[in-house]
Parts: sequence; C-alpha cells; structure tokens
Amino acid sequence: KTPKNHILVIFGASGDLTYRKLVPAVYDLYDKNMLPKNFAVLGLGRTELSDNQFRRKMEEGIEKFALNNTGSALKSKIDTFLQKLYYYAFNTKEEQEYAGFKDKLLALDKELGTENNFIFYLATPPSMYTTIPCHLARQGLNNEDEGYSRLVVEKPFGYDLESAQQLNESLFRNFRERQIYRIDHYLGKETVQNLLVTRFSNTIYEPLWNRNYVSRVEITSAESIGVGSRGGYYEGSGALRDMVQNHLLLLASLVAMEPPALIDSNSIRNEIVKVLQSLRTIKEEDVAKQVIRGQYINSTVKGKKVKGYRQEEGVDPESRTETYVAIKFFIDNMRWGGVPFYIRTGKMLPTRVTEVVIHFKPTPHHLFSSHATIAQQQNQLVIRIQPDEGLLLKFGMKVPGAGFNAQNVNMDFHYTDLADVYLPSAYERLLQDCMLGDSTLYSRGDAVEAAWKFVKPIQDAWKNNKDIKVHGYPAGTWGPDVADELIEGSDLTWRYPCKNLANDDK
Ligand code: NAP
Repeated sequence: KTPKNHILVIFGASGDLTYRKLVPAVYDLYDKNMLPKNFAVLGLGRTELSDNQFRRKMEEGIEKFALNNTGSALKSKIDTFLQKLYYYAFNTKEEQEYAGFKDKLLALDKELGTENNFIFYLATPPSMYTTIPCHLARQGLNNEDEGYSRLVVEKPFGYDLESAQQLNESLFRNFRERQIYRIDHYLGKETVQNLLVTRFSNTIYEPLWNRNYVSRVEITSAESIGVGSRGGYYEGSGALRDMVQNHLLLLASLVAMEPPALIDSNSIRNEIVKVLQSLRTIKEEDVAKQVIRGQYINSTVKGKKVKGYRQEEGVDPESRTETYVAIKFFIDNMRWGGVPFYIRTGKMLPTRVTEVVIHFKPTPHHLFSSHATIAQQQNQLVIRIQPDEGLLLKFGMKVPGAGFNAQNVNMDFHYTDLADVYLPSAYERLLQDCMLGDSTLYSRGDAVEAAWKFVKPIQDAWKNNKDIKVHGYPAGTWGPDVADELIEGSDLTWRYPCKNLANDDK
C-alpha cells in the first residue's frame, strides 16, 4: 500500500531525534518506494538553517543511521531524496509566528500537490506538546475538511498521572483521538508485534497461556551502559518513568491480553487497555515489599573503574533516582488470577537485552530422575525482543544411554537465520503506519492513563516514605541481590541471560 500524498512537518527538526532516527527512517521508506509520489518533509526549529544547510545535515544523518544505506552506490538516491526536504525557522512558542508558518506550509502544499494532507510530528521538548497543538488548531490546521491532519507525539506522555491527564485533555481540546499518534517505539519493533502472532496463530501456545499452566511471567529490559552525558535529564526521570510506565507495561499487556476480535487498531487497543485496567494496585504500604529500587554505585568491571550514578555529571550526589527497578504484580482477571508477573529494568547491567520469559508449571508427577531441580526442569519460553531477536523453548529430553534421565534442552530460533529478511527500524515501521492512517501500534490515551494509574502509588510511596531503601548495586551485576527475594518460591530466581561481570556466581 502506498500512502496518500502528504507533507511530514517535524517540529524540532534541528534536534537529535530528527537527525538520528526520523529522517533516516523516512529515507529507508523512500529507498523501498514506500513514499507517495508527492511528498515532502518540512523541518521546523528556532535555529536558522537554509533548506540546503538542513539537507546537508540530514545527509550526514542518513549516511550514519539509515539501515538501507549500504554505500556510495546509493549517493544519487540520497541526493534525489534530499530535494524533498525543506526547512523553516520560527519559534513555536510564539503564537504570532504561526501565520507565517501556515503560509509556508500551504504554499509548499500547492507547489508539490500534497493535497492538504499533513502529519505534524512533535520532536520538541515535552513542554511544547500542549502549546503546538493549540496554535495549530487556532490556524485551522487540525481541520480535516480537505485532507487529513495527524499529530504524532513523542514520549514522555506526562510525568505522572495528573500531568498525563492534563496532556490528554489539552490534546483532545484540539485534536480527536483518531488524529493523535502517541509513539512508543517498542511497539514498532518486529519482535513485539510477533508476540501477537506467536500467541494467536499457533495452536500449541494459546491453550497453555493462562493460570492453569503458567507459573510466572518475567519481563527484563537490561542496558549495559549508564546514563553517560544524560545525567541531568535522567535525574528528573528514573527507570520507573523511563521504562516501566510505558514500554514494559505495554509488553506485559501484549503478553497477557485476550485475543482481539479483529486485527485492527481499535480491537487490539481495546484488549491492551483491559489488561492495564486489571492490574492490581500496589498499595503504598506494600511498595517496599513488591518493588525494589536500585542505583549503580562506584565499581570495577573487568579491571576498569566505573563511576556510580551519584558521581555522574548532572546528578545530585544524594540522588534517590532509581537506575534499576524490579516489580512483582498481579493481573486480576479470569486468565491470570494468582499468577505473579515480574518486571525489571536497569542500567549498567551485564548485557543489553530485552526478553519475556513464560515459565510453565512443572508436570504434576515427576517420573524421571534428573540432576536439575524441579524448577530447572520446567518448560520455559523465552521471547527475545532485542538484540538477537528470536524465540527459545526449553523442554525436557532423555539423556542418551541407560535409564530414564531427563534434562532440559533448547529449541532456538533467531530472526537472523532468515537471512533474506529485513527488519525495519521501529521508527520506519511506525512512520509508515501513520502515513497509512493505521494507529494500531501507537498508544491510546486511555492506555497511557491506566499505566500511570498503576505507577502512581509507587511514585507516591517513594516520595512520602524516605525509609524505602535505594539499594546500591555494582555495575556489571544483575542489580540488587534483594530483587531475587521478590520471586515467589524457595529455589527460584530471575532468569539470568548471561553471567555477572563483577563476580561469577550467577
Ligand atoms: P533535542 O535534540 O533537544 O531537540 C529539541 C528540538 O526542539 C530542537 O530541534 C529545538 O530546536 C526544538 N525546540 C525547542 N524549543 C523550541 C521552540 N520554542 N521553538 C521551536 N523549536 C524548539 O531533543 P531530541 O533528543 O531530538 O528529542 C525530542 C523529543 O523526542 C523529546 O521530547 C524527547 O523526549 C523525545 N525522544 C527523543 C529520543 C531520542 O532518541 N533523541 C527518543 C525518544 C523520545 P531549536 O533549538 O533550533 O529551537
């Protein structure tokens, strides 16, 4: 399918996201002939740039970050693409400057034949997310009488429940839900979408995907790097806001949701929101028991000294901002009643990995002997979201030779085995969907608020109760040891996708 002719207007086009992600992703679409015949990008920012200067900067971004750019053979293709890029400098805070911008946009629309179809992408600081839509509406640019008008909003969608509600209210004053595309780049990942296909296109998983056969579900998103130069930004955010409220609760929803009636935006998003609304609230007084908060400390990894979080640039030396969080929670519905879900995410962990692990219950009777514990013999399905995307199923096999001894072996699928398959970047996929008017892989306002509602008592407890510990953990480990105590069951721990770098006990 080719999208309708349109102009992609990027607010914040002189910034990092446009340079590293957006324009390279648009180029990748162009390279695969997925853009319409009449198309332009109109970049906006306060920085004064000519069209030519903007094009040169974007050329550099494409050469570094586009997935399809495989060398100089593509030079002429990039040159042709760059002619579709335009730039207009203005201060988006100032209402009186919007008339000039509108003239520029409509003149370009007329010249290029883009039929009054506009996508407004907000890649600015979040403080502008309420201002820009309001000024666009005052210029009538939210109106869909002649073409379409879509608004793409980058995360964060609020800072807490109240600000998320305020942001939604303000967006809804000027745009309708169906015009709003809230980006969660996790949903753009092929493996996240594959979760639905794995679950709902295979007879072998769905009958087992419930409280009768699943003993627990684990979701891990680990980063091996620290906050680096982004300490100042991270101080106001932390792992709960940055990762759990959006990406990890969304992943949990996709793992837990009911089959949608149809594969369309409304049906899928209805099921996602139902899961979020079924999350059992963690009471403020239970936060210390169900939520582990951690911070990486000064440490030595493979002989190299690593700065602790509090020693990073832009970070308060007494900071209580978490760089690690692990949560145990329940989904109170018919399918999942009583099954614990565990989420953890952190910086400076041993490796970069995002995975979902479904732990199945052991067989009701153990016929075969094994050196492994019962827990180690349980079936596990590991869904690897990144990197090395794929599926790993652990199941029992007879050890060859005398007797009937069992051991768990791996059945392992890697996307890279499909050598001819091209995995588009998340931004490429999401931009393409927005151009086609498909919001399935974007977050809906009610889902965003439901996720904040779950996170709120945790934020409140951390704010109100200074006795709740921030556990230090050495860089290169899987976070504070106490996180293992969250897992129900005496000999059970988290799955450790690789060993600690600091000591070899996991
Ligand atoms: P950035 O590098 O700081 O860029 C911000 C942009 O906004 C600049 O182009 C800036 O342009 C423009 N801007 C700020 N105030 C403005 C004003 N009053 N009028 C006109 N333009 C203004 O930020 P970024 O990293 O690109 O991130 C943009 C948004 O995406 C942020 O909300 C961020 O949270 C989100 N995000 C970014 C990433 C990423 O990988 N970078 C990932 C996920 C989400 P001028 O200075 O020229 O005005």
